[in-house]
Amino acid sequence: QLDIETKPSRFSAISTLTQHIQKLALQTASLMQNQKHLVNAVSHELRTPLARLKFALAMLAPKDPQQVQAMSQDVTEMELLIDEMLSYARLEFSEREMSKTNIPLSDLVEAQIGKCLGASNKQVEHSIAQDIYVFGNDHYLARVLQNLLQNAEKYGAQKIKIELKLRDNHVILSVSDDGPGIPVDKRDSVFSPFTRLDSSRSKETGGFGLGLAIVTKILSWHNGKCWVTESEMLGATFNVSLPAHRNTNI
Ligand code: ADP
Repeated sequence: QLDIETKPSRFSAISTLTQHIQKLALQTASLMQNQKHLVNAVSHELRTPLARLKFALAMLAPKDPQQVQAMSQDVTEMELLIDEMLSYARLEFSEREMSKTNIPLSDLVEAQIGKCLGASNKQVEHSIAQDIYVFGNDHYLARVLQNLLQNAEKYGAQKIKIELKLRDNHVILSVSDDGPGIPVDKRDSVFSPFTRLDSSRSKETGGFGLGLAIVTKILSWHNGKCWVTESEMLGATFNVSLPAHRNTNI
């Protein structure tokens, strides 16, 4: 009886600590938005107990490998959440540090399609107008593309379509899929931090609901915007609009 009770109690202590860290991570996200020093402090505060947790789990591994493996997965999930959350919080301070140049967007889009969807088993179609330029930061614009392309891969069923074109003085990028789409009443809120729709919670798709908030933040620095509509394939189309820039290199 005693033995049965001691082992679970050790696990339940770890589990309580795990839940505590997770709660702390979520609560601090909004606090961190305007205070750079806090980001670094919290990053340290969250990582230290996680490292301790990992160590404790490694010690327990021989006793109950199955349960320890499940808990290790939770810890890894938490590390990912902390990374994603910190990367979102850091974005708040990066604008001042962000350098902008003339970016060949057509090339950037093609490169990111290759990188994010090169190994996809979905049918990927794209129509990329050439020689389209924007004034911006290639690292952050690549992040926008990655988040949208990875979502299409994650939530789409069989097909993904990407289009890049010029309309008046604007560049329009659209990423469409044939997945469940976004219900009309969620088309604004889906861009808020930590928003995940029920369909994706029940699905085995990793994520914390920060990807689209990051997209919105980066695009606002570029005087751009992102909105969602229904795709021709009845899934989602994520549309991006950015001011076009003339190519000063030619
Ligand atoms: P994450 O994918 O990490 O959960 P995002 O901020 O990228 O976070 O997306 C927020 C939510 O919007 C997702 O959890 C999902 O419910 C929904 N979503 C995003 N992209 C798509 C898509 N292409 N099709 C359907 N739902 C999507």
